[in-house]
Amino acid sequence: MTDSYKHKGMRRSLVRILKEKGITDDAVLNAIGRIPRHYFFDQVFEGHAYQDKAFPIGEGQTISQPYTVAFQTSLLEVKPKAKILEIGTGSGYQACVLQELGVNLFTIEYNKVLYARTKAFLPKMGYNPRFFVGDGSKGLRAHAPYDGIIVTAGAPTVPDALVKQLKIGGKLVIPVGDKSTQKMLRITKIAEDQVEQEEFDNFSFVPLLGDKGWN
Ligand code: SAM
Repeated sequence: MTDSYKHKGMRRSLVRILKEKGITDDAVLNAIGRIPRHYFFDQVFEGHAYQDKAFPIGEGQTISQPYTVAFQTSLLEVKPKAKILEIGTGSGYQACVLQELGVNLFTIEYNKVLYARTKAFLPKMGYNPRFFVGDGSKGLRAHAPYDGIIVTAGAPTVPDALVKQLKIGGKLVIPVGDKSTQKMLRITKIAEDQVEQEEFDNFSFVPLLGDKGWN
C-alpha cells in the first residue's frame, strides 16, 4: 500500500470538490484529506478512488460516495471520545472517517464476508473500531446507549430500537424512504419519550436488510 504525492494531490482535489458541494465541517474535510481511499480499491480500479462517487466493493454492496460520508458525518456533530454506532460497516471507509474524529466506534455489518474482510483489513491501516456481525436494524443493545448512531443503508422506517439506544441528547442519522431514494433524517433524542426530527436532501443507498429493514 503506497500513498504517493499523486494520491495526496487527488485527495486534495476531492476535498476541494466536497467544499464546493457545501461541506463546511473542517474536521470532516481534514479526515477525508488524511485517509488513503485508494487502499479500499483493487489496483486496477484505483483511478476511481478520488472521484466523488460510490463504487462496488463486492457482495452487491458499495463504498459510499465521499460526499455522502462527509454529509452524514457532519450531521452527527461528533465530539472526540463520543460513543458512536455505525450500522453497515461495508468497506470500513466511513469507520475510518469517524475514527479520525477520535470517536469510540462500534460498527456492525450484516454480510459475513464483508465483516470478515473489513475486520482483517482496517487494523492494517491503523484503524481499530470494535467490529460486530449481525442485524444492525435492531441496533447493538449490548453496548448501548450511544451518543450517535449512523445508518449507512436505506431504511423503510426509523427503527424504534435505534432511538431507544441513544443517550438523551444523542443523534441518529438515517436515510429513510423506498428502495431507490431516501431522505436523510437526523433524529435528536430530547427526552426519554421525545425526539426532534430534521429532514435533509435525498440520497440513494443500498437497502438496509434485516428485521427492521427490507428483509
Ligand atoms: N459504511 C460503508 C462504507 O463506508 O463503505 C458503506 C456501506 S454500504 C453503502 C451499506 C452496508 O450496510 C453494506 O455493507 C450492507 O451489507 C450493510 N447492511 C445492510 N443491512 C444491514 C443491517 N441490517 N445491519 C448491518 N449492516 C447492514
